[in-house]
Amino acid sequence: AEQQALQQVRKQFPILDQQANNSPLVYLDNAATTQKPQRVIDSLNRYYTMTNSNVHRASHTLSAEATLQFEQARETLAQFINAGHSKEVIWTRGTTESINLIAHSWGSTLRPGDEIILSTLEHHANIVPWQLLAQRTGAVINVIPLQDNGDLDLAAYKRLLSTKTRLVAVTHVSNAIGTINPVKQIIALAHAAGALALIDGAQALPHFNVDVTDLDADFYVFSAHKLYAPTGIGVLYAKQALLESMPPWQAGGEMIAKVSFTETTFNDLPFKFEAGTPNISGAIGFATAIKWLQAQDRRLLEQHETHLFNLALDGCSQIKGWQRIGSPEKSVSLLSFTLAGQHQQDIGYILDQQGIAVRTGHHCAMPLMQALSLAGTTRASFAFYNTRDEVNRLVEALDRISHAQQVSIPTHQPQTDDD
Ligand code: PMP
Repeated sequence: AEQQALQQVRKQFPILDQQANNSPLVYLDNAATTQKPQRVIDSLNRYYTMTNSNVHRASHTLSAEATLQFEQARETLAQFINAGHSKEVIWTRGTTESINLIAHSWGSTLRPGDEIILSTLEHHANIVPWQLLAQRTGAVINVIPLQDNGDLDLAAYKRLLSTKTRLVAVTHVSNAIGTINPVKQIIALAHAAGALALIDGAQALPHFNVDVTDLDADFYVFSAHKLYAPTGIGVLYAKQALLESMPPWQAGGEMIAKVSFTETTFNDLPFKFEAGTPNISGAIGFATAIKWLQAQDRRLLEQHETHLFNLALDGCSQIKGWQRIGSPEKSVSLLSFTLAGQHQQDIGYILDQQGIAVRTGHHCAMPLMQALSLAGTTRASFAFYNTRDEVNRLVEALDRISHAQQVSIPTHQPQTDDD
């Protein structure tokens, strides 16, 4: 019965049912972006067929309907992460824009010598905005190192915290190696030192529920497209008092209350941070994905993901020269690895020839790769719509690659930096 339920879930993702390079597509790049269920695709179609109109302005019926759906979507997202109020949910383009908003708005209050703590496990999106901010303000960045087992060194973190620390910005789950960080503890320690905490939840919410109130996160950011929803939309959650105290970032329509050429007053939350026409269909599609997800048996889906992960781990562990990179425990269903004597780009190319989509390279985490003394890894990231058969195909393909004497690929695929 469980297998049937899982098959039913998979059937709702039409893109999975196709050939790639004359083999059935095996999509194992879910950490880069997930596929969308038909329900979400339909909601975009329905919005543009029936409702399209600008929000929050016109006096007409369509606009009222679009506004209603857009604001209901915000409500759905607020409930999904257990925010105190939907005002605390700001729509952005995604995780990257959420972090940039914080770095520009909240960050403008930093003074020379103020300290920001990041971790070695961060995605570039949670590094570069802080570097640019440090250059603008004279703030200083400190980095939590890794322990030998690849987990964050919490003892070192405690030593980095001081009265100078203004912000601790850490990822909930590593996109490169899958580690789940103890963010509740990290946040509590930040607060004890008088600092705020920002959690990058891009890779967490796709795998488990998150309660921002229970975590006591000051900022929590994530992207829709990794959560079975459209690209171009995401969320900045922040505590209301904090958002009230922050200056606006982008300026224009929607974010104002009153404008004259001498003075402008700003709109209330959440609109103060949403300049211009927002991604209306994206927000509606996002809420549709969340409602779809909530209607599924999430316990079964999580169990299945864990099962796929263990199957892949067991299978790959038998392969000569295969090495897993990442935390021994506490990981989401994502397997980062190297294969002795084989370059990851070649591995990615050969897998693609067999229809198997994985990600290779530094995974937008170059400082982590440096800390691990690796040029990159191959990453297979699983979603609940993947099957045991697909995992077996991956393991068999990797086993064949491990036996190949020497692989020579004439031209490398261009290395992109998109996740
Ligand atoms: N942080 C993490 C941990 C991520 O995995 C990603 C996307 N790979 C990002 C930030 C950036 O997200 P986006 O590109 O959707 O803005």
